[in-house]
Amino acid sequence: MKVHEFQAKQILRDAGVAVPRGIVARSAEEAVSAFQELNGSLAVVKAQIHAGGRGKGTLVEHPEQHGVELVKSAAAAGEVAGRLLGSRLVTIQTGSEGQVVRQVLVEEGCDIDRELYLGIVLDRAASRPVLMASSEGGVDIEKVAAETPELIFKEHFEPTLGLQDFQVRKLCKKLGLEGKSVKSALGLMKGLCRVFAQTDCSLAEINPLVVTGDGELIALDAKMNFDDNALFRHPKVAELRDEAEEEPSELRAAKAGLSYVALEGNIGCLVNGAGLAMSTMDLIKLHGGEPANFLDVGGGANVDQVTEAFRILLDDKNVKAVLVNIFGGIMRCTTIANALVEAYKTVGFNVPLVVRLEGTEVEEGRRIIAESDVDIITAEGLTDAAKKVVAAAS
Ligand code: ADP
Ligand code: MG
Repeated sequence: MKVHEFQAKQILRDAGVAVPRGIVARSAEEAVSAFQELNGSLAVVKAQIHAGGRGKGTLVEHPEQHGVELVKSAAAAGEVAGRLLGSRLVTIQTGSEGQVVRQVLVEEGCDIDRELYLGIVLDRAASRPVLMASSEGGVDIEKVAAETPELIFKEHFEPTLGLQDFQVRKLCKKLGLEGKSVKSALGLMKGLCRVFAQTDCSLAEINPLVVTGDGELIALDAKMNFDDNALFRHPKVAELRDEAEEEPSELRAAKAGLSYVALEGNIGCLVNGAGLAMSTMDLIKLHGGEPANFLDVGGGANVDQVTEAFRILLDDKNVKAVLVNIFGGIMRCTTIANALVEAYKTVGFNVPLVVRLEGTEVEEGRRIIAESDVDIITAEGLTDAAKKVVAAAS
């Protein structure tokens, strides 16, 4: 799950990590009063969407307006917020349609001496989180990673022990931080690692991490993603979910207890089990097709789930054929067959449907489908199913 910058910054602030003061505004008037309340001569108005690259991004409706802008008066804050709110911001991370800006963060202007980069991800190979730091922070970190990866320094840490002081000192040396900045880095880097472990983050990124004119470190941007499977342990984090920012079909699927990821192809897939779903997609590709999605109905596919899954698949206008590939292990094939027939009738299928069933009571399951009056193409084996659905879609 992703959260907005202002939400990530609140989490960091609560954990003692230095972030600028800021106020969220949902109208131009609120942005004007936010500027006044901050009571400084400089502020930055920042579009809040679940995507980065806002500083360089521009609005569809006002191509001159960027997603992050420095303002010097309350009136200017109001004008910028007025353009951003309700408009679509296009960045390298949003796709060409952009994302609608529904709120902005009005933040005190920061005196920037240097822009560094700090990020934490899980290093699966090392089975530990890794803190990455670079002196080349700011808006082009992807370029640094691609062209000069030696400028990114890494320190792994044990989640239960946290980042150690000597690791911070090592990084400071490489980043060229001295004196006061080292003390500041100790609090900030250790704090970020602690939050990462304690809230089950999958990613935490501060870009830029700024060294101010007087040597303090402060998180000027903040991005945090959380592990969906651990959200039950963090009800306060779960409350930060902003459904308006999520892919509507993926949101619907999540509500029905389905794991669904939308893809680019034209063959809809409905499978039970993530491993079987992956191999189904591989076989479709092997036989010259392109899957339109990944969809795992889990172990207990019932009529309601299959019906909702069919609806989601058929809502995708690119879908030209659907493949159902179910292994009835714990779930019997007869139950699945009945669910398929019922869901098919409820949804009103308008594209070819290929079904491959295997497992417990498979003969009986196939008989149910054959004897029903629904128009289902049955397949024997995975290869046969893939070939049939690719042919049906083309
Ligand atoms: P994004 O990564 O989405 O482009 P950032 O929050 O990193 O957005 O902002 C882009 C740039 O804007 C930063 O690299 C920094 O130079 C500047 N900036 C952001 N917030 C502030 C601030 N509070 N004060 C001064 N400059 C800022
Ligand atoms: Mg940034």
